[in-house]
Amino acid sequence: MTMTRSPRAFLHATRRVMRHLRDLALHRRGMDLRNGNALVARLLRSALDLGVELRPGCAVRALQKDNGRITGVTLADGTLLRCRVGVVLATGGYPHDAVLRAETFPRNAEHQTLAIPEARGDGIAMARAIGAQMRRDLARAAALCPVSVVPWPDGTRGTFPHIIERGKPGVIGVLANGKRFCNEGLGYHDYVDALLGAAPEDQPARSWLVCDFRFLRRFGLGIVRPQPLPWRHWVRRGYLKTGRDLAELARACGIDPAGLEATVAEWNRGAARGEDPLFHRGTTPYMRLQGDPEQQPNPCVAAISRAPFFAVEVVPGSFGTFSGLAANGRAQVLDTEGAPIPGLWAVGTDMASVFGGHYPAGGINLGPAMTFGFIAGRDAAELSA
Ligand SMILES: Cc1cc2nc3c(=O)[nH]c(=O)nc-3n(C[C@H](O)[C@H](O)[C@H](O)COP(=O)(O)OP(=O)(O)OC[C@H]3O[C@@H](n4cnc5c(N)ncnc54)[C@H](O)[C@@H]3O)c2cc1C
Repeated sequence: MTMTRSPRAFLHATRRVMRHLRDLALHRRGMDLRNGNALVARLLRSALDLGVELRPGCAVRALQKDNGRITGVTLADGTLLRCRVGVVLATGGYPHDAVLRAETFPRNAEHQTLAIPEARGDGIAMARAIGAQMRRDLARAAALCPVSVVPWPDGTRGTFPHIIERGKPGVIGVLANGKRFCNEGLGYHDYVDALLGAAPEDQPARSWLVCDFRFLRRFGLGIVRPQPLPWRHWVRRGYLKTGRDLAELARACGIDPAGLEATVAEWNRGAARGEDPLFHRGTTPYMRLQGDPEQQPNPCVAAISRAPFFAVEVVPGSFGTFSGLAANGRAQVLDTEGAPIPGLWAVGTDMASVFGGHYPAGGINLGPAMTFGFIAGRDAAELSA
């Protein structure tokens, strides 16, 4: 985002992009081991060093249970694998299980999940088939995130998570009536939570992130990158809506023009003083961290005034599911009576979130996944000793 603001930033970004292009040419993927890639690479290295046998592309279809304990799994090709101690389920929750989603996701029709397509709820279904209990009492069934749908040139559609730009100064989120409904700079889960509560029941749950030309070029909007990268092709593809004035933008989106004009006029009155009287953007250190330190007096508030104006439609989405198999503190799966099923553990998003469907901060999926993966492994190792 700061690429064009200092020679140092320009050099840094250029180097990173060139290295990525070289990786794509040589390896057909990025080879930079940071963040999630680094985490998984380290786990894989450890597993290989310990002689763990990995079988990629090998789907499990059913759990074997004999005399009340788990004794193995059946693979998709019918092969039976027997286990000495037990089975740890980690198949990624149910973000692509249509039936469970319809039962547990509010406004499921508009919901766009970001999770991998293989996360179809297999682990939960297999466990329930042998008497496991699924928890549905969580505050939210999934880790929510505002998502826009990206039309790719080959006709397919992708999903883009709106994680970063919502907290920057000069963007607001509005409903079809043109009104704001939340503090856009709080967490992504909170944005969708508010959208689910505010969108009228008889209309699709959708919102628009609205900004001006200055914001678009400085921070980007959704998949539209900031300067120096081009943006007009996103208008031609229908992803980015634009208007020479706010009323034209509103008509292009299907937003009430008078409502949007009134909302932006109110926002700009506050922005002139560096304030957001309605939702108090920029009043906590967390919000200011998401803002732009060069924007003063409030790093989270700037006027929306420089035409043309832009918007991207944003709907409820998710990173993964929170609801899942009931488990105890040892990650052992519980049956419908609340007793542990001998030889069965669930970790990651197959296990109901220990945060009860709340999202206090980032890492709410991966933190417990690492923790309970470790606990389940240690538990199983103790039993096998
Ligand atoms: C864009 C994005 C950003 C995210 N950012 C964060 C973040 O910052 N912090 C955070 O905590 N979380 C984040 N998450 C969420 C987090 O990445 C996931 O919740 C987490 O990776 C889920 O881990 P898991 O082990 O439960 O399942 P997964 O990592 O989804 O793995 C499940 C595996 O099981 C396999 N599988 C499925 N069915 C079967 C079967 N029948 N037999 C055999 N194998 C099967 C799948 O192929 C897959 O390999 C993010 C998610 C996305 C999409």
